[in-house]
Amino acid sequence: MRILLVEDDESLGEGIRTALRRAAFSVDWLRDGASALAAMKDGGIDLVVLDLGLPHMDGMEVIRQARQAGADLPILVLSARERASDRTQGLDAGADDYLGKPFDTQELLARVRALLRRTNGRTTPMLRVGALELDPARLAVVWRGKPLDLPRREFALLRLLMEHRGRPISRESAQQRLYGWDEDVASNALDVHIHALRKKLDPALIRTLRGIGYALDEKVAQATAEDRGE
Ligand code: CA
Repeated sequence: MRILLVEDDESLGEGIRTALRRAAFSVDWLRDGASALAAMKDGGIDLVVLDLGLPHMDGMEVIRQARQAGADLPILVLSARERASDRTQGLDAGADDYLGKPFDTQELLARVRALLRRTNGRTTPMLRVGALELDPARLAVVWRGKPLDLPRREFALLRLLMEHRGRPISRESAQQRLYGWDEDVASNALDVHIHALRKKLDPALIRTLRGIGYALDEKVAQATAEDRGE
């Protein structure tokens, strides 16, 4: 999943970006409101973490304009403004959640997970497809009863496929959501990660749908040892 971070404070921005990357999110970091709006128009972003006090155009204006333009992605506002009226205005302008500075990074991550969960229509924090379980908070994966230790990018790809359960994800969308703009990514990176997951889980678990993209095969995820002839 890809997160747009809009924060003009260098050290705070650096800290948030690091924490989000460690949580297996791809992060694009911008420092002003106008470029944030342009990025939201481009699409491919799952959630925005937005500071209110920004140069030139403040965060409140960014929210208003983004919502007016029809952007429906979740926006989590960060602000040093502590007055209740600012929180109210932010939420009324179209923010989905609000965190006052200073905040605990773990709380920020928990709020990001909660917003993504709601956006994807999930009520439970755990992702489950048959014998595949993924815990976004603990970055843990269990496949057919055994814990799997996946590198960050493979974890992110599996989480994306599980969030898309029941509907395929296009190659372009998967690429957008896994890699940020400033990352130097080889053109076959996605194939490499798909291949690695198939090898570690089951070659048939991730289906390639020609001209469409990728999808998890729920029958393979649900197959018991007996079904598999083991
Ligand atoms: Ca600021």
